[in-house]
Amino acid sequence: MPAKIAPAALVRRVRRGEHAAASRALSIVVNDEKDSEVLAKEFFKSSGCAQKVGVCGPPGAGKSTLSGRLIGYYRSKKLKVGVLMVDPSSSISGGAFLGDRLRVMEHAVDPGVFIRSLASRGMIGGLTYAIFGAIHVLETLGCDKILIETVGTGQDEVDIASVADTILYVTTPSMGDEIQAMKAGAMEVGDIFVVNKADLAGKDKAVADLKAALGLGHCAGQAERPWEPPVLATSARAGEGVPELAKELDGHWKHLRASGEGRARLKRQHATELQFWIQRRAIKSALDRVTDEILEDMVLRKTDPASIGRKLLKV
Ligand code: GDP
Repeated sequence: MPAKIAPAALVRRVRRGEHAAASRALSIVVNDEKDSEVLAKEFFKSSGCAQKVGVCGPPGAGKSTLSGRLIGYYRSKKLKVGVLMVDPSSSISGGAFLGDRLRVMEHAVDPGVFIRSLASRGMIGGLTYAIFGAIHVLETLGCDKILIETVGTGQDEVDIASVADTILYVTTPSMGDEIQAMKAGAMEVGDIFVVNKADLAGKDKAVADLKAALGLGHCAGQAERPWEPPVLATSARAGEGVPELAKELDGHWKHLRASGEGRARLKRQHATELQFWIQRRAIKSALDRVTDEILEDMVLRKTDPASIGRKLLKV
C-alpha cells in the first residue's frame, strides 16, 4: 500500500473488503494523522451494522482463548469477524502484546478475520476516541461481529460498556469466591456471563453462585425482566459450549434490535464518541495556544490557571 492514497480511494478499498486498506485507514484514524477526519466521516456513514461484543473479565479467565473459539465458530458460519484488542495501560503499539495472544492470532491469516491491537496510553483522549474510529473502519470493512477484548489492566480506563452492544463477562470456577467481590459494575453491565474452564472442578457451584449473585430466577409477581442475562459454562480450551454461547450472543443481538434497547445503547455510544471528540479537539487546541509568555505571566502571578484556562478554551 503506497504511503499516499487519496481518502476517497482508501474508503472505496475498505468498502471492498481490502485488509491492507483497512490497516492503513485504521492507522490514520487512530493516530489522528492527516486526512483522519475526512476518513472518519466516511467510515461513520457506513457504521452501525455490526454486533460489537465486549469481552471482559479477570486476566487469565480465558478471554483470548474463548475469543479464538468464537472466531472459529463465526467463520464456520461464513461471518466476517473483526477483533480489537484494547490495552490502554500500555504505550506499546502494534503487535508487541498481540504476539502472545496466540489463540486469536491463529486466525490472523484468514481473510475473513481482521485483528488489530490498540495501545496508546498518553495520547490526549486518544485511545478512547480511537476505539470508535477503529470500530467504524471494521464495520465499513464488512465485519458482522466485532470482538473488543480488554487486555492487561485496562478495564478501568476504557468503559467497554459505552463502546459495545453486548457485554460478555468471562470468569472461571476457581474465581468462585471472587464473585461476591466482583465489581458491582461488572454484574450490572454484563449481558451474558460465562464460567470458562468448565473442565476444572467447581463449575456447577460457580454457575449457581453467579446466578444467585445476579438475582436470577423470578419470584411470583415479579415483573419479567426485558433481558435475563444467561449464565453458561464453557471450556474454551476444548471448544465446548461455544455454539451455545454464540446462540446466546445472537439472541441478545436480536433482543437489542427488537426492543429498542439497541437504539438506546447506540445513542449512548454516540454520546460517548462525541464527548471524546470534543475533549480531544478542545484540549488540543487550547494547549496549542499555551505560550512561554503565558507561563511567564503565571510565574509573576499576573494570571492564574482558571483565568487563562477559560480564555484558551473560550468558555
Ligand atoms: P485471558 O487473559 O483472559 O485472555 O486468558 P487466556 O485466554 O490467555 O487463557 C489463560 C490460560 O488459561 C491459558 O493458559 C489458557 O490455555 C487457559 N485456558 C483457557 N481456556 C481454558 C479452559 O477452558 N480450560 C482450562 N483448563 N484452561 C483454559
